[in-house]
Amino acid sequence: MNNKFGKKTEDHLNKNDKKSKKKEKKANVKAELANAKQEIADQKEEKSDMQAALLKADQEIANQVGEKADIQAELVIVNKEVDNQKEEKADVVAELAITIKELANQITLRKEALEKIERIMHYDSLTSLPNRAMLEEKLQHEINIAKDQDKRIGILFLDLDGFKPVRNTLGQFQEGEFIKVVATRLTNLVQESDIVARLGGDKFIIMVQNPESSEYVRKVANKIISAFRQPFEVNQNEIYVTVSIGISVFPTDGKTHEDLIKNAELAMYKAKEKGKNQSVLCTTIMKDIIRENMKLSNGLYKALERDELEVYYQPQISLDTKKIVGLEALLRWNHPVLGMVPPGKFIFLAEQNGLIIPIGKWVLHTVCKQNKTWQEAGLKPIRIAVNLSIIQFQNLEIMNQINEVLESTKLLPKYLELEITESIAMRDTVYIIDVLNTFQKLGIYISIDDFGTEFSSLQYLKLLPINRIKIPMPFIQGINVDKRDEWIIETIIVLARKMGLAVIAEGVETRQQDSFLKKRLCGEIQGYYYYKPMPAKDIEMLLQTNS
Ligand code: C2E
Ligand code: CA
Repeated sequence: MNNKFGKKTEDHLNKNDKKSKKKEKKANVKAELANAKQEIADQKEEKSDMQAALLKADQEIANQVGEKADIQAELVIVNKEVDNQKEEKADVVAELAITIKELANQITLRKEALEKIERIMHYDSLTSLPNRAMLEEKLQHEINIAKDQDKRIGILFLDLDGFKPVRNTLGQFQEGEFIKVVATRLTNLVQESDIVARLGGDKFIIMVQNPESSEYVRKVANKIISAFRQPFEVNQNEIYVTVSIGISVFPTDGKTHEDLIKNAELAMYKAKEKGKNQSVLCTTIMKDIIRENMKLSNGLYKALERDELEVYYQPQISLDTKKIVGLEALLRWNHPVLGMVPPGKFIFLAEQNGLIIPIGKWVLHTVCKQNKTWQEAGLKPIRIAVNLSIIQFQNLEIMNQINEVLESTKLLPKYLELEITESIAMRDTVYIIDVLNTFQKLGIYISIDDFGTEFSSLQYLKLLPINRIKIPMPFIQGINVDKRDEWIIETIIVLARKMGLAVIAEGVETRQQDSFLKKRLCGEIQGYYYYKPMPAKDIEMLLQTNS
């Protein structure tokens, strides 16, 4: 059975197989076709995408072309700007060059100005010598070196003698020329390493470098003094002056530049006191005096507060009537330790430290008040003289001070006399004439104290409003001793009379002096022969009997 049926089945099976294979094939073809179609569709899509991309790319290219054109246009502008900037830069460089030049000019000007300031600050404009500031700097520098090396430094403080009359004769312009000639001579007299400095006026300082001894410095000073024997020539005029020199030596006479200069200056004043035209070395004795003066000066500050000052009065007598016609107020200091200190010992200190202004004011007030009190007590009114220091006179407040005192004490100006020295009279004449005229118009009496003792010009007798001349004691002491003193006294009395001025002799101690003066018609006398200066209470009693 299998065979029969088998064969049939087998055929049937083959037939079916073939059929399904065909079907499968067809399906495959169909699938492939679908695939192909799909691929075509895809390719189409891709193509259209590519076309779109192409289009976009074209667009971009077109845009880029546009942008490039813009960039090129911008580039042209930028290039132009660069060109402009280049031009501007060239201008700026040119301007900068000008500015730099200007700056350089300014720097030069500034440098010159600084140099000028330096010159003004450190050099004397008239002589071109170092000034005080420069000298102090150099001296301090040298002191520092000398300290380490155990060396000496000499300081000469020079002041011309009798310069005021020379100045008056020469006038301002020639005075400058004269100072220049003096400066040149001084410079030629010292070593190149020494320094000549001008302090102003007729004062010079010379710093002697590294001298072997104090004696050597003194020799330098004496060489200068000798060299001044030769006249100085100024515009064909021959001028003779002498010089006083004070000497200090580092380290013995001072360890600082201030002390060395101050001590040399004090020694110079000693040289003047001893008769001028000489040198004086700052000695230990002088240093003691300085110390003493410093103590006095310190005490003087407190003297006013502590009521230690007192005014004494010395009567002035008429030679005709022998009556008291006036008083001179003379200051005294009742020192708590030293006792009564005379004015000769402290007035110059008060002048140096400025205390003379308040002290002088106090004296004026005390005297005017005392005088008014005596008048109110019924004593015969009397004129009282007050000594005025040059420092008080230089103070522009002097007129106000005197007005104030007269107003506050209610004393009539005719009972006040002011004694001024020749050195005041010789100062700035226009100012002095002005002040003295004001005083005289008020009715104040003006006297010239110590007439003929300082370097004076008789010119001021003509110019200044003066009432009286005081003949100083040194001439009076020459009566019956030295004919020349007598001639001077006689001449002064005649001169005063001719000029319509009153005259009073000071320091009359003897009967011979008194009778000599009486014979020569000297109007008034003041001196121990009649009265010594006395305290107010003693004077009061005397005035009561005099009235
Ligand atoms: P001075 O103005 O020349 O005064 C005269 C001086 O001679 C006074 O000295 C007086 O006491 C003194 N004297 C008067 N008669 C005789 C005499 O017969 N023989 C002797 N040996 N001496 C006599 P004092 O009181 O010592 O005054 C000295 C100087 O002090 C005064 O000299 C004057 O320049 C100054 N002085 C006094 N009081 C003041 C003041 O209040 N202010 C100022 N700025 N200076 C004053
Ligand atoms: Ca006097």
